[in-house]
Amino acid sequence: MDEKFLLMIPGPIDFDPAVLRAMSAKTLSHMSVEFAEIFGRALKNLRKVFLSEKGQPFVVAGSGTLAMDMAIVNLVEPGEKVLVLSSGFFGDRMADIAKRYQAEVTVIKAPVGEAPSLEEAEKHLKKGGFKAVTATHVDTSTGVAVDVKALGELAQKYGALSIVDGVCATAAMEFRQDEWGIDVYLTASQKAIAVPPGLALMVVSERAMEAYRKRRSPVLNYYADFGLWLPVMEAYEAGKVAYFATPPVNLIYALDVSLQQILAEGMEKRFARHRLLAQAFQEGIDAIGLKQVPVRKELRAWTLTTAYYPEGIGPELIKAIKAEGVIVAAGLHPEIKDKYFRVGHMGTLTPGDVLTTLGAIERALASLGYRFEKGAGVKRAQEILCPT
Ligand code: PMP
Repeated sequence: MDEKFLLMIPGPIDFDPAVLRAMSAKTLSHMSVEFAEIFGRALKNLRKVFLSEKGQPFVVAGSGTLAMDMAIVNLVEPGEKVLVLSSGFFGDRMADIAKRYQAEVTVIKAPVGEAPSLEEAEKHLKKGGFKAVTATHVDTSTGVAVDVKALGELAQKYGALSIVDGVCATAAMEFRQDEWGIDVYLTASQKAIAVPPGLALMVVSERAMEAYRKRRSPVLNYYADFGLWLPVMEAYEAGKVAYFATPPVNLIYALDVSLQQILAEGMEKRFARHRLLAQAFQEGIDAIGLKQVPVRKELRAWTLTTAYYPEGIGPELIKAIKAEGVIVAAGLHPEIKDKYFRVGHMGTLTPGDVLTTLGAIERALASLGYRFEKGAGVKRAQEILCPT
């Protein structure tokens, strides 16, 4: 396998070698105190990454979709009302999950490239009776970022639980769980958490755990039930062991290493790095002359860029970029699938990766006959990366 390429898709990302090495360490018994120490540290650190002091962390083998599934099935009972703010493919998935668990679902669907209207959300919430409101922090199909802080305020005001899909945002986009009053922030390992795919992660507020305890009906999914995982998470955090279902021991090693790296960088610095590198990349793309999917600059995510192909060029651009050593992703949103491509930039990303990727895109576009000022994208990015 050729390993000399840059993986710039919105997850899995290029992982740090120390994180990958952690996965190859000898597998401990999941019932050993040595493992409890590692898992316990990871749980404590997860809370720090989410900027939550008292939230309950859950780390379970599975992908981001399981985390979405868990949030809904534990907090919404059949017949209860859920308001889903959808900014793309993954917002629609949240609505599907809530419907599957027999919730009464109202969807506010944003046009492609727009964020769902919070005014419209408020109109619905005002009517009362909503158990939960959900949003996707960054929808990976559109690259649109949602104002999660404002959503938290709205949910608190109307007594609904807030559930935010942070799969394409956590540990990169600014997020402060306690301060913003978000009840469930859920994610997966393979994006800015920077651990190979296979972990569903979330931190659940005290208010949401209380709502779970007050349920009248059993949780409709056995594996996903908070009540079965809670004693396990509490035991590991206390340095003890407990069993419900076998944890993915080696992935937990990797999580432990990655969370330590994230906290060594520091959350404020990490947010600022993602913001700066995203700006450099996105303004570089503007300078090349490609139109981006988010309709306004302030809607652009710090974790990925979604750009339309220029006229006369289609998905063959992705192959041409690959030939230049960089892997980017194809479109995902069903309405514009073949009209745009996606570039992930999160986690271990460096300024060098931004410049390499812009350079590869420029050479690929040139090879397909697109006419533009060569070097314009790289130059613009450099201006942002070294302003003085
Ligand atoms: N939500 C968002 C925003 C995502 O980007 C993804 C995955 N790309 C998911 C949910 C689902 O995660 P997974 O593919 O790990 O199930």
